[in-house]
Amino acid sequence: MSQKILAINSGSSSLKFKLYELSEQTVLASGHVDRIGQRNSTFTFEIHGQKTIQAEKMDDHLAAIQAVVNGLLTSHVIEHKSEIIAVGHRISHGGRFYTHPVKVDAAVKAKIKELSVLSPLHNPVNLAGIEAFEKILPEAAEVATFDTSFHYTIPPKAYMYGLPYNYFKDHDIRRYGFHGPSHEYIVLKARELFGTQQTRRMITCHLGNGASLCAALDGKSVNSSMGFTPLAGLLMGTRSGDIDPEIIPFIEERFHMSSEDVRKMLNQDSGLLGLSGLSNDVRDLNQAAKAGNQRAQLALDVYVHQIQQYIGAYTTDLNGLDMLVFTAGVGEHSAMIRQAVCAQLTFLGVKLDDEKNRADALRIDAPNSRVKVAVIPTDEEAIIARDIKQVLGIK
Ligand code: AMP
Repeated sequence: MSQKILAINSGSSSLKFKLYELSEQTVLASGHVDRIGQRNSTFTFEIHGQKTIQAEKMDDHLAAIQAVVNGLLTSHVIEHKSEIIAVGHRISHGGRFYTHPVKVDAAVKAKIKELSVLSPLHNPVNLAGIEAFEKILPEAAEVATFDTSFHYTIPPKAYMYGLPYNYFKDHDIRRYGFHGPSHEYIVLKARELFGTQQTRRMITCHLGNGASLCAALDGKSVNSSMGFTPLAGLLMGTRSGDIDPEIIPFIEERFHMSSEDVRKMLNQDSGLLGLSGLSNDVRDLNQAAKAGNQRAQLALDVYVHQIQQYIGAYTTDLNGLDMLVFTAGVGEHSAMIRQAVCAQLTFLGVKLDDEKNRADALRIDAPNSRVKVAVIPTDEEAIIARDIKQVLGIK
C-alpha cells in the first residue's frame, strides 16, 4: 500500500483537490466541486487524463469532501482511506501569526477561527474543510498553508496604511497580501525555467475570478495589490478592488445600508459584474463587447487600465522590470487581455509576439522585447503538497 497526500484548495462555494503519490510526488487524481450549497452543484473528477463530471447536490463542504473521498475509493485510486496520511489546506488569512505553513492542532484552529473577522468569506469555509477531514479521515495529519505567508517579506513602507499608528500596533491593520501559493509557485517556476538572473525583478499577474499582482525581487514578495483583506487592489470578477474609502460611509448613509449590506455589495455585486451589469466572466464580456455592448467594453477597459497601473507602480518598487508573468483563468487563456495590458507598456520596452500570445505559449515576448513576458499555469496545490512534506519532515 503506497502512501498518499491530499491537497485541498477550498473557496467560498468551491473546492479543488489533488491527490499525490507521496514518494514519487506524482498526481494520481484531481478535480473540483463547484457551487457547493446550491441546487446545481457539480463534481468533476480526473484520473489518467480521463475527466468525468457529475451533478450531485452538495449542501456544504463536509458533503463535498465526502464526495471527493468516495470518488477516490470507488475509482480505486485508493483502496482504503488510511492510504491518505496527510491533508494540506489552503487557508486564506494567517494574520501576523503564520509566516510559514504549520501542522493543524486545536490552537491553530482557534487562530483560524479568530482570524475570520479579517476574512469572513474564506476562513470559516477553510476551517470547515479542516473539521470535515477530522471526521472523515481522523488518522490523517493536517497541515495549513496560508495565503498571506509568501507576502511576509513585504517591507513596512509597502504594508503600512496612512492611518493612526495604533490601528496597526493594537489591531494588526496593515496590508497582508493574498494568493500567496499561486504567486510563490509562479516565482519558483519562472526562476527554475528561466534562471535567477533573468527573473530578478518580476511582476506576477494572477488574473482569475479573484485577481492580484505581486512584485517579487530575487524571488521574494515586496508588494501585493491585495491588502488587509482580499477585497483590495484590482477590480475582480465580482469584487470592487480599491475605491475611495469615503464612498463607503456615503453609501451607508445615503441608502441606509448596514456595513454587512455594503460588504456584500463590494464583494459579490461589484467588479466586472457590477460595472457591466452582465457577467463576471471575461469570455462573456469579450463576446458582448465585440457585439457592441458598451458597458461590457467599459468593464474590460477599467480592468485592463488597473492592471497597467499596478504594473507601472510595481516597476517603481522593483526599480525596473525583467519579467512579467500572467497566470490563472484570464492570465493563462485570454490573449486579448494580455495584449491590451501590454499595449501600454511599450515605454518599458515590452513587446509581444502576437502569434505566440494567441497560442498561449510559455514565452510570448518578441525577440527585441526588453522585458521577458511569460504565461505560466498556476499550481497552488503543488505548493500545498510541498508544505505538507516540509511540515511533517517527509523527505
Ligand atoms: P480562475 O479563478 O483562475 O479559475 O479563473 C476564472 C476566470 O477565468 C473566469 O471567470 C473567466 O473570466 C476567466 N477565463 C477562463 N478561461 C478563459 C478564456 N479562455 N478566455 C478568457 N477568460 C477566461
